[in-house]
Order: sequence, then structure tokens, then C-alpha cells
Amino acid sequence: MAYEYRPAWMEIDLGALAHNYKQLADLYGGTKICAVVKADAYGHGMIPVAKKLHALGVDFFAVATIIEAQTLRAALPDVDILILGYSPIEAADVLIEKNLIQTLYDVEQGKAFHLAGLKHDRPLRVHVKVDTGMRRLGFSANAAGVNAIENLHGLKGLAVEGIYSHFARADEIDASAVHAQGQLFIAVLEALSIRGVTFKLRHICNSAASARFPEYYFDMVRPGIVLYGQPPSEAVALEALELREVMCVKANIAMVKSVDKGDGVSYGHRYHLPETMNIATIPVGYADGLLRGLSGKAHVLVDGEPCPIIGSICMDQCMVAVGEKTPKMGDEVVVLGGNVHPMVSVAAYAKALGTISYEITCQFSLRLHRQYTE
Ligand SMILES: *Cc1c(COP(=O)(O)O)cnc(C)c1O
Repeated sequence: MAYEYRPAWMEIDLGALAHNYKQLADLYGGTKICAVVKADAYGHGMIPVAKKLHALGVDFFAVATIIEAQTLRAALPDVDILILGYSPIEAADVLIEKNLIQTLYDVEQGKAFHLAGLKHDRPLRVHVKVDTGMRRLGFSANAAGVNAIENLHGLKGLAVEGIYSHFARADEIDASAVHAQGQLFIAVLEALSIRGVTFKLRHICNSAASARFPEYYFDMVRPGIVLYGQPPSEAVALEALELREVMCVKANIAMVKSVDKGDGVSYGHRYHLPETMNIATIPVGYADGLLRGLSGKAHVLVDGEPCPIIGSICMDQCMVAVGEKTPKMGDEVVVLGGNVHPMVSVAAYAKALGTISYEITCQFSLRLHRQYTE
């Protein structure tokens, strides 16, 4: 397709990804890394991201769904792929045939997977999940949960290779909830160990926890957002890490015009110009991921300077006040990311929208062609 003629695109800096990865690998000091590449690597493109990380030495990946797992398997035949989410019992054959690792948190599901493993004469690989406080997926961190895990561990049709949990509040300054969950996880591991039930891979740390709590590394960490150069939250900014934004959305200006003082701009004329000035129309809109809620709250970098998006963001375009500047049709602007200016950072967009950086990068759609640079 003629992507070269679409004047809006996404640049994915695999060099920045490598930079982030190396910083993190140093920090983790040899702890095994499970790179989280779910949701198309948080909008960065799962396959190129996973291939780059694989070339850097990552051999363990996490995805959310069986579709994502199969897509990744087709590109990387030999890596370990953990599915973090729910796969129905009917998926057992595919899980075994594609050598995927399924998260397990239910006895009936475990028994069905065991039977499938026997049928294939090849155990279905699982990591058991324990709910230590997220209240999402996982066996309860109590005696009943421990019994269930012990029973499943003995089933021949399952290869129980790991056990894990997930922090609900690792991105807040107050660490008390993290310690409560971490200690509960340790208690479950000890209760199982007393019964002779041990695991090759124990893990609980997401990005935020992995940067702050080495005492909970166990055998593996599961960073996602930090690989893409985004701090997990405003509170946990991780300035010491020097993360680089991997995603950058760019566009060529579609039109520049002088607009009179008092004129309304865009649908509904919700914005009126306080002064006569130049306005640039940018061919990126909410269908590309530039959410309409950002209207009046975000900036675009024109000529290296942040200029405000004014009026409502349209489906395919938005308008930017460039003041006295006189950019030309076709000039390149930075809409988001790329580590070029804090006012167009993913974090700034997230803050403007009252959301998290994760939602911003995931939001940028495939209508923007992704160009990968090293
Ligand atoms: C998404 C996810 C991660 C990665 O979270 P980040 O905050 O991006 O590091 C780790 N573990 C589980 C279970 C997840 O769902």
C-alpha cells in the first residue's frame, strides 16, 4: 500500500527499546526477564518489538490472549510464551500444539487441561496464578488455594512450570499494599514448599515493582510499560532510569492559514481565536488515536516548539495554533512521543486526559503506518 503518501505515521525507535531494555537488564542484575508484549506491544507492534528483544537475549514473553500467543509463536518458534489471560478449555489442543504456557487458576480448568495433556501424550504447560490482592485472576491465597495448587501440581497431564501473582498498587508511593501482597505470596510459596511443591519460575513484579522492590524479584520479572520508555505512573517517574520513548507519532502539515480574531475553529466553534493568527491543520484525528478528549489540552511540536491543539479534534484532522510562525504545507510536526519535548510526551497526553500512559500508546491505531528505525 502507498503508505509513503499518507502524511501521518508512527515511528517506532527500536534503538530506544534496546536502550530501555539494557538499562532494565542492568537493574535486574541477572534476574530472568519476561517481556510483556500484550496488546500489540502496547501499540508498538508485537512482532518487531519481540524480535528485537529476542535478539537482545529475551526468551520469555507474556501476552494477554491466545490469538496474540499464536501470532507471536508464528514469528518466534522457540521462545516461551505465557498467556496471562483466560483461555477456555476448548483451547487446550492449540495450547499444546503451539507449545504455549497458559495461566491456570481454576481446578476444573486444570483437570480438563490435564486430560488434554494425556490425550496428546505431552503435558500442557501452565503457570499457576495466585490472587494476593488484585482480585482479578488467581487461586485465593489461603488454605483452599494452596490445596488446589498442590492437587493440580500432581497431575501428569500438566507441566506446572511456574507460579505468579500481580501487584495492584506498585505504582503508588505508599508501598504498604505491595508488601502485604508480597508477603502473602511468600506465605503461599512456603506453604507449598513444605508439602514438597516447588516451581521453576516464581514471579510477581510488573514494571513499577521491578524498579522499586528487588526483594520481590524471585526468579523472573515481568516488565511491560518501562520497556516502551514510559514511567508506570506520575508517582513512580523512575527518573534514575533515563527511559526513552519508543513511540513517536508524526505528520505533515496539511494546510496553513491566517484566521481572524474572534473566528470559531472546528466543529461547534467551541474555540474562538483571541488574536488573529496562523493556524495549521494536521492530518491526525481521533480515529488515529488522538482522542477527542484532548481537544484544547494537548500540544503538537511545530518547528521544535509546542503549539496548542485548538477546537475539537476531528476524526481525521485537528487544528493547531501556530501564532506568528509560518510553517508550510508538508512540514513535519511531532504529534506525540519520540522523547523530543515533555509537552508532547505520552505522559503529558495521559495527564491531560486524566488517564495512564498505557492507554495512550495502546490507543494509536493501525491507520498510522508503523515505521521501525534502529
Ligand atoms: C500487563 C501486565 C504486566 C505488565 O505490566 P506493566 O505495568 O506494563 O509492567 C505484568 N503482569 C501482568 C499479569 C500483566 O497483566
